[in-house]
Amino acid sequence: MKKLVLYNSLGRELQEFVPIEENKVKMYACGPTVYNYAHIGHMRCYVFEDVLRRILLRDGYSVKFVMNVTDVGHLDSDSDTGEDKLKKQSTKEGKSIRDVAMFYEKDFFHNFELLNILSPDIVARASEHIKEQIKIVEEFIEKGYAYKLEDGWYFDTSKVEGYTCLNCVKDDGVVQDRIKATDKKNKADFAVWKFSNNGGEYEWDTSFGRGFPGWHLECTAMSMKYLGNKFDIHMGGVDHIPVHHTNEIAQAKALTGDVVANYWLHSGFLIIDGEKMSKSKGNFYRITDFEEQGILPLSYRYYVYGFAYGKTASFSIEALKAADNALKSLYNFETKIHFIKDLDISIDCDKDAEEKLESFVEEFDKCVHNNLDMPKAMEVVWNFVKFVNLNLLKISPSKIIDILLDFDKVLGFGFSLDNPISQEIIELGKQRFSLKKSQKYEEADSIRDKIQEKGYYLEENKEYFVINRYHG
Ligand SMILES: [Zn+2]
Repeated sequence: MKKLVLYNSLGRELQEFVPIEENKVKMYACGPTVYNYAHIGHMRCYVFEDVLRRILLRDGYSVKFVMNVTDVGHLDSDSDTGEDKLKKQSTKEGKSIRDVAMFYEKDFFHNFELLNILSPDIVARASEHIKEQIKIVEEFIEKGYAYKLEDGWYFDTSKVEGYTCLNCVKDDGVVQDRIKATDKKNKADFAVWKFSNNGGEYEWDTSFGRGFPGWHLECTAMSMKYLGNKFDIHMGGVDHIPVHHTNEIAQAKALTGDVVANYWLHSGFLIIDGEKMSKSKGNFYRITDFEEQGILPLSYRYYVYGFAYGKTASFSIEALKAADNALKSLYNFETKIHFIKDLDISIDCDKDAEEKLESFVEEFDKCVHNNLDMPKAMEVVWNFVKFVNLNLLKISPSKIIDILLDFDKVLGFGFSLDNPISQEIIELGKQRFSLKKSQKYEEADSIRDKIQEKGYYLEENKEYFVINRYHG
């Protein structure tokens, strides 16, 4: 396997990735809380996770990827206070909690389709893993890790050695200034079970009281159920470091004495107008918000590649438009190569030029294996495009397509093995080309108009023609 270096938040350094089992990778990502639409800030994180998964798949690993869906237990604030986000939304919309959850979950995964994010191997809903979560709380109580307060059962963080191992704060016992209840033994203690007895949806009877699980519990229950007590990679947004992931680590340590995953990877924030994008501030965009402006959803994927995944990215419509133009140019390039191949244009193969192509693949490999350096990887892609354009009729188009498809295993732009332009349009182009050759210009132009009416445009020279879909 190729050497892959990743920035591990656990240890806060670049580390070589070594899987637990040879040729296999088990990875877990914290998924959405499905009480509202997903915004582009969320999607940045899922694109990053998808890129990592694609790199591993391209390298030949067999990958098992599990993602949770939070449909119960996530309160207004991460500090175990306020209302359950889903319950609140269900009251607002006058729908059942389940209907709210299903609606926004569907929207969430629609974003995956739009962004060409590979579906998780397993999608695990919190509400469908209540038994597993109850069992864990019982074990916490039995082992003395949980204690009872008026509103629920709390996890005693002082019982876990190295509670702050993931957090950037020194291990001085004060990590989170988030708990207001004075009854808690330690400031950072968090709810593993909240009491609730409204006779409503999404509460369960247990030997330790009727209620619902704390938010952090589901990820421990489901990651360990599907990936075992120890797996390779755990991922999420950088905002998960101080509370959610710290608490996930603590819970698993209480169960097994060990940190549950070897590599903890985090995607940075997306900032808009200097502020964090959030549903509560109302300053968020959804992927579908740009369609009216003719921006392709996948252009957001391209845009994300402009930033190191762990760093904060600043978003603007102008930057997205630039990404959109660039992606459309890439598609046009791809189409051009397909035309050169399909029209059987004579190629005067130059061995040096063809050999040089391999160096772009090597360079691309280096970048993506260097902690997913996508900004540099995209530079390599464009250098490749420039080189090919300069040597267009000296390189076998099949070779160029092979390389594009290889890059695309990571990029996920959806390059295709066959000409993306429909056969009907290609035939029209061929007709025009031969009419022009026979100097029947009037007829040739009427066919050109037909092509344009259908939303395509022609690029022509003496040797060949290309029909493109996008104006970019
Ligand atoms: Zn989680």
